[in-house]
Amino acid sequence: MGLEMTGEIPNFTYRLHEAAVPPLTAGRDGTRHSVVIAGGGPVGLGLALALARQGVASVVIEADDTVCKGSRAICLSRRSLEILDHLGALDGFLSKGLGWTTGRSFYRETEVLRFDMPHAASDRFLPMTNIPQYWIEEFLVEAAEKHADLIDLRWQTKLERMEADAHGVRLDLSTGATRYTAETDWLVACDGARSKIRQDLGLRMNGTAYEGRYVIVDVEVDLPWPTERLAWFDPPSNPGRTMLMHRQPDNVWRLDYQLHDDEDAEEMTRPERVLPVVEAHFRMLKIDKPWRLVWASTYRASALSLDDYVHGRVIFAGDAAHLVPIFGVRGLNSGFEDVFNLAWKLAAVVEGRAAPELLSSYSRERHDAWATNVSHAMKSTEFMAPPSRGFELMRDAVLSLAARHQSLSTLINPRQSSVLPYDDTALNLTSPDEHSFSGPLRPGVLVPDFPVECGGRPQFLSQHLADSFTAIVFPGEGLSAEHAAAAVAAAQVTGMPIALAIVVPRTDGAAMGPSNLLVDAAGRIRKAFDADPFAVYLVRPDGYVCCRWRRASGNDIAAALHEILGVPAAADGIGAGVPS
Ligand SMILES: Cc1cc2nc3c(=O)[nH]c(=O)nc-3n(C[C@H](O)[C@H](O)[C@H](O)COP(=O)(O)OP(=O)(O)OC[C@H]3O[C@@H](n4cnc5c(N)ncnc54)[C@H](O)[C@@H]3O)c2cc1C
Repeated sequence: MGLEMTGEIPNFTYRLHEAAVPPLTAGRDGTRHSVVIAGGGPVGLGLALALARQGVASVVIEADDTVCKGSRAICLSRRSLEILDHLGALDGFLSKGLGWTTGRSFYRETEVLRFDMPHAASDRFLPMTNIPQYWIEEFLVEAAEKHADLIDLRWQTKLERMEADAHGVRLDLSTGATRYTAETDWLVACDGARSKIRQDLGLRMNGTAYEGRYVIVDVEVDLPWPTERLAWFDPPSNPGRTMLMHRQPDNVWRLDYQLHDDEDAEEMTRPERVLPVVEAHFRMLKIDKPWRLVWASTYRASALSLDDYVHGRVIFAGDAAHLVPIFGVRGLNSGFEDVFNLAWKLAAVVEGRAAPELLSSYSRERHDAWATNVSHAMKSTEFMAPPSRGFELMRDAVLSLAARHQSLSTLINPRQSSVLPYDDTALNLTSPDEHSFSGPLRPGVLVPDFPVECGGRPQFLSQHLADSFTAIVFPGEGLSAEHAAAAVAAAQVTGMPIALAIVVPRTDGAAMGPSNLLVDAAGRIRKAFDADPFAVYLVRPDGYVCCRWRRASGNDIAAALHEILGVPAAADGIGAGVPS
């Protein structure tokens, strides 16, 4: 049953994209570009969309003629969905993806853990959504095609060579038999784990490459089971293996299992070798439905990163910059966070609104996030595939005790699904009022989402965090919409726009425009922000708090922006002033 490996996916057809070559003059692309993105995988496409949101045009160079093939990412985090929403690409993800909140783990035949990921009924998205990477890329391509004015997506175009100097990068590109050169001010390397650009620059990734190897199998089978994460340690069907099982859309299921040390990876992905493992597993689960093998491949876990993601005019993002073991599901999810962190900074630099040094905060913040992600993912990886006999004994002891001692069960699943703060970055500013705030929303923390009412309709706070900076203002007596708007408008420096979100307990009697007036009837936002009347939070375009005040004038906000953007303050005084 299911012996032939087809690569045929239910309800998905690969669109083949024609090669795209720009008008050439003597073998040269006559336009000097601001940003070229090498690699049209999910991270490259996401970056092009995020730059387009900032009004910045980019060229995406993609060697292939279609989206990815084979078993790759399936679990997207809540944060990734929030980012995809900001990129204007969310709809397909919601209609196709399968959200989930729970997981179960079994040791041999006994269930030893049932976990629920943090999730409130008012949360906009579920903590995880399963959607395979070919759909992820397809939805991003569709979104990019709608921005053809700002995104020049060049399929079947390979970056052959690059040469960078202090002012920009020269690229040698090939499309079929056509070879040409192009020039760009900035090159972003989104060319994946085997990055050619990383090799051309002679850069090394540092970290750990694990010995353990895994077979990743996608099968089509119609099972009436819920979407949850299922794990079996040492199951009777496949003794000594760890088996993971995840539901994907369209009746496709992902199985991951570790190879024994003496098994040959290539041999073990042959359909006739995969078949008995899957059949034994299905027999144990009393699954007697017909099933079909879609594809099988092997995977080896790595926790590797460049030390710096910015090298002059060349910037690295996604797998080209860093790798994490898939068991923490932080590979692509981190890539989307890279994109969102980088896009506003690169846009500000390209448009002359910020000094290039702003980009070093991208490198610092995302490298720190990688290091923390890795420490979590390593725990999962060591648990899934103990690296030594000692680890294995400890793991088996935890598993055998966990059914009776629930406190131990957290060790089985050290999964990390919350968004990491950027605690150590020059973009976190300490206002004179900082020490007076209690609560977790310090500079460097992502603004959490809350339901709000706006113009009489239910919405979410995140929908009012702009592509630009946002000042979240909590009015008090005497602070009208005009005051707040004037102060925030006056704070705009070097053309960097600031949006205003005004949080009020109710609308009655308030003479404020509805589009940025957010009703927080239950007071949850005020409480979480520890916000007395007049408090102001300045939020970065990627949603992180950068400074908070008990009272702030336009001048205060302007000074903060000058510091963050690395541009000198204007000589003239600014600011109509929020009452202070
Ligand atoms: C089995 C498996 C399961 C995974 N599960 C998850 C998961 O559940 N959740 C998660 O978050 N992550 C997961 N990941 C990780 C995720 O797949 C990667 O992190 C993600 O693909 C990285 O995206 P990227 O755009 O950086 O690189 P890639 O997806 O590798 O894209 C790079 C692109 O660059 C192009 N390219 C390369 N070289 C050139 C060149 N010289 N010129 C032009 N184009 C070039 C390639 O054709 C490709 O399209 C998983 C990975 C694997 C292998």
